[in-house]
Amino acid sequence: MRVLAVDLGATNLRVALFEGGSLVRKAVTRTPQSPGDIIDTIVELAREISRESGVDAVGVASIGPLDIGRGDIVNPPNLPFKRLRLRDELGKKLGAKVVVANDCVAAVWGEYIYGRHSGVSNMGYVTISTGIGGGFIVDGELLLGSRGNAHEVGHIVVDYTSNIRCGCGGLGHWEALASGTGIPKLAQSLAKSWGGPETEALARSRGQVITPEEVFRLASEGDPFAVRVVEEVARIIAAGLASVAAAYDPEVLVLGGSVYLRNAEVLRPLIEEYLSAYAMEGSHFRIEDASFGDDEGLWGAYAIASRTPRKLEKYAYKPASR
Ligand SMILES: [Zn+2]
Repeated sequence: MRVLAVDLGATNLRVALFEGGSLVRKAVTRTPQSPGDIIDTIVELAREISRESGVDAVGVASIGPLDIGRGDIVNPPNLPFKRLRLRDELGKKLGAKVVVANDCVAAVWGEYIYGRHSGVSNMGYVTISTGIGGGFIVDGELLLGSRGNAHEVGHIVVDYTSNIRCGCGGLGHWEALASGTGIPKLAQSLAKSWGGPETEALARSRGQVITPEEVFRLASEGDPFAVRVVEEVARIIAAGLASVAAAYDPEVLVLGGSVYLRNAEVLRPLIEEYLSAYAMEGSHFRIEDASFGDDEGLWGAYAIASRTPRKLEKYAYKPASR
């Protein structure tokens, strides 16, 4: 079976060809800004990496919000258009079955089918990236929700006393404090009450010019304020994960996303330490790193196309039989 996997993010568009269960070729480009250009670019890359010989099925792990019934992206916050008819346009142009899912929903299915912990029937996937989102499998069933969007775990309140406002408008949300966009705001807030020495990370945080990469780099160089920010980030992630675990009762919580994966070595032990304080006593879930690194979305897209979950099958585009 030849499957085209598409990972459509706000920043990058990745397209890969899977054959015989392996990723054979892939291409990565910046995500175009208009619906027509996005479809054309996917079709162009598909022809290139499939060497013009077509595919049996297409899976798309997409940014949201989705209208899963139509396979459309509707009012995406980070791209400048109202609607992209993703499923049907790709189906018509590629002449193959097309399955679309939210990127986190696809990623947890990819972990469930092909990941290191495949077959674990209660599993969550949480991405800590520009934002924070999740996908869940409960009793072997993929959770979709009414319109197929990610479970919005990034908007769990992790600090009800916080004045830091989330992109969604709420206060004290997990994503507002510990995502790629949240860490600079958290650092700025911590700088106000810092009683320790003047440091580079502190000076930059006061101006809100510090990036997550700089926070982690300066922490690794021993900057005491950066170390404090990293500890707080890990603590907030642990609080979020404990809340997620209380809601979904997973055996495994898989962690992915660039902010986590690039800093897993420092974050994971801290998260595990704080989890022992925040998680319900007697809960026995464990955290694991994502199986496919930067290709998590592609493996998720491949999984929903090659082993389509029952719930997504009815939303698939099917070409008219020739
Ligand atoms: Zn929010």
